[in-house]
Parts: sequence; structure tokens; C-alpha cells
Amino acid sequence: MDRRLYEEDHEAYRETVREFLAREVEPHKDQWDDDGWIPREVYASAAEAGIYALQVPEEYGGAGVADYRFRMVACEEIARVNALSFGLTISLQDDLVLAYLLDLTDDEQKKRWLPGFTTGSIIGALAMTEPGAGSDLRGMRTSARRDGDSWLLNGQKTFISSGIMSDLVVVAACTDPGAGSSGFSLFGVEKDTPGFERGRKLDKIGLPSQDTAELFFDEARVPATNLIGEEGKGLQYLMSHLPRERLGVSAKALATTRAIFEQTVAYTRERNAFGQPISDFQHTRFELAEMATEIDVATAYVDQSVRAYNGGKLTPVDAAKGKWFVSELQKRVIDRCLQLHGGYGFMREYPVGKAYVDTRIQTIYGGTTEIMKEIIGRDLVSG
Ligand SMILES: Cc1cc2nc3c(=O)[nH]c(=O)nc-3n(C[C@H](O)[C@H](O)[C@H](O)COP(=O)(O)OP(=O)(O)OC[C@H]3O[C@@H](n4cnc5c(N)ncnc54)[C@H](O)[C@@H]3O)c2cc1C
Repeated sequence: MDRRLYEEDHEAYRETVREFLAREVEPHKDQWDDDGWIPREVYASAAEAGIYALQVPEEYGGAGVADYRFRMVACEEIARVNALSFGLTISLQDDLVLAYLLDLTDDEQKKRWLPGFTTGSIIGALAMTEPGAGSDLRGMRTSARRDGDSWLLNGQKTFISSGIMSDLVVVAACTDPGAGSSGFSLFGVEKDTPGFERGRKLDKIGLPSQDTAELFFDEARVPATNLIGEEGKGLQYLMSHLPRERLGVSAKALATTRAIFEQTVAYTRERNAFGQPISDFQHTRFELAEMATEIDVATAYVDQSVRAYNGGKLTPVDAAKGKWFVSELQKRVIDRCLQLHGGYGFMREYPVGKAYVDTRIQTIYGGTTEIMKEIIGRDLVSG
């Protein structure tokens, strides 16, 4: 399909990303999965190579490039080498954390956090989810109360990506229990904050080298200068930034789906059964034809979303449509691709087997498929 999404600069960037991945990621990614950890120096090298944080303004050491097509290129190349745990951390930095740091911080905070973010010496995380509140963010119980020139945070977060490695966590907490949706605020919690502890690294079924953790706050003393944005607007900030996170999920989903699909087409041409390549069975060709069509249709939607995002016009509803549709497509396509690999598909050494477990989370985090449909459905029937 002729996408007409990219220009020369994007293709030149693709070469940079490819070269970086071939050198710094491909040779090590299986070892990282076995170790359950990606060394943090890798992120410093990635930041230096411009694999993420491109959007940071030049005065803070970045390139000041906000064009989301560069993120798309990074997603495609990371998917092509099947480095999905690495890719999630990169996405977490660019699609989640950075947007908060760029849009909501004051000048002093920008000076404190952005240069480190740009060199990879500050890894960020975003902590919304709690043991009792995931989809229902209004149910968050982590609290923050003012004490002189600090805030004291109490509570617990769970499922926080890069929770162990992070140096700076954007934490959502309740600052006024009586104020309903205006009772939440965001805080930048730095790693050595007294009273802030990380729990265990959670034992997931997929993305083995991506760290996901519980965080605990016990009278954690956070300077008042670490309040992000205005007090009471936390929930509003989360809602306005979730479309970017959801576009990130769609971008990763599309890239991984296409990469696994292309690897599967090649596999069906090489694998023989009953004296012929399995691609010669009409059933196989129909499977491939259906998947190719669905992927191309989804590509058109995601490309359109990227253009809308670049133009400041991606709505929460349109981001929700892409998020659920493309992540569900990913789940279906990878399952069908695994089937076409037969028993080999079930082996971890085959990318399709790894992708099967590594991508299962995509319909859950960033807002579940059901919550996406709620957002779309409510919009359709309201007023
Ligand atoms: C690997 C991983 C990484 C994550 N990273 C982060 C992170 O970095 N930061 C962060 O804050 N969170 C993170 N999360 C949390 C993730 O966003 C939540 O798990 C997700 O939003 C779902 O919340 P929950 O787990 O509490 O499920 P629940 O909200 O308990 O949902 C359970 C089921 O009920 C359904 N449901 C809930 N409400 C409704 C409704 N109104 N209508 C219909 N169905 C409904 C859901 O769709 C789901 O099927 C991560 C999770 C994982 C597993």
C-alpha cells in the first residue's frame, strides 16, 4: 500500500534507528529477556542516538521535533527486530511521560528534568493505577496533603511501567476528597524521596525485560515545587493526555502486527507440508489475504490519526477508536499467524510466539477495549 505518510527526513531517520537497533538492541534483546532487565545505559545510548525525546526543545538539549511520524518510524523499526520490551519503555518515555513534562511543568521544573530526560539519565514513569482503581481513575485513594512547603503522599500504585528503574514518577493523587473530579493533582516524585519505596518487580506473562512494579508512599515528602500543573486539575490533565498514550498503543500495535504478518508470509513460503509450501493451500492464502486487508485498512486509520495529532486535532474519541480497534486486530492477527507457524509458533525462539504473549497487554493498558467503547458510545448518544 502506498501510504504517503513519510518524507525523506523520516526515511533518513529510519536508517538511524535501524543502525542503532542493529548495534545496541538486536544482539542483546534475548539476553535481556532471560535476565528480566534492560540495562539503563541502553536508554542513554538510545536518547543520544535520538531514538526518543526528539520533541524536547533545543534549549533543553532536544531536537524540538514534534512530528509524530518520527515516533511511527521508531515503532516500525523496533517491531521489525521484535524488541517489544525495549519498545514499551521508549513508548512510555515519549508517549506518556514527556507530554506531561512538556505541557504542564513550569520553567524551573523544565530546567530540572528535561535535560536529564533528553540524555537518558532521567527515566520517567507515570503512576495512575492502584490495586483498587484502574479503569475507574476517580477511585484513586493515594492522597497528598499540604505540610508547609511540602506535600505528604500516602498510598500505593501498581502495574507501573519502569516503576523500578524510574528516576522521576508523575504520580496522580487525591488532594481534596470532597472536590469530586477536581480533587486530584499530579506530582513529580523523585527517586530518593523519603517515604517513597518501590515494591517487587511484578512477574508478568509477557514483556519479560520491561520492569513493571508496585510503588508505595508512606508520608512521602514531596517539595511543593514538584506539583505539576495546577492543584485540582490532575484528572483533567490525565484525560487530556490519554489520547497521546492511546495513539502510542495504536502505533505500536500496527507496527508489530505488520512485522509479524510479514514474517509469517515468508514462513508460509518456506514451510512445506504434503509436498508443497503451506502458502500453496488456499486456506493459507485466504488467511493471509484477510489479514493483509485488515492491516491495510487499519493503517489508513492510524495514518489519518497521526496527521490529526500533528495538526492538534486528534480527539479523545478518535484516539479511543484507534486504540481498541488496532490492539484487538493485533491480538487476532498474531493468533492467526501463530497458527500458521504450527508448533514452531509456540516456541519462544520464534518472534510470533514471543509477540503472542508480549502484545496481549495492548487491549488492557492505556484504557481497556471496554472503556474505549464506553468513551465512543457515550459520545454517540450524549446530547
Ligand atoms: C504491563 C502493564 C503495564 C502497565 N503500565 C501502567 C503504567 O505505566 N501506569 C499506570 O498508571 N498503569 C499502568 N498499567 C495499568 C493499566 O492501565 C490497568 O491495568 C488498566 O487500565 C485496567 O485497570 P485494572 O487492571 O484495574 O482493571 P479493572 O478496571 O478492574 O477492569 C477489569 C475488567 O472490567 C472491565 N471494566 C471495568 N470498568 C468497566 C465498565 N465501565 N464497563 C465495562 N467493562 C468495564 C475492564 O474492561 C476489564 O475487562 C499497566 C498494566 C499492565 C498489566
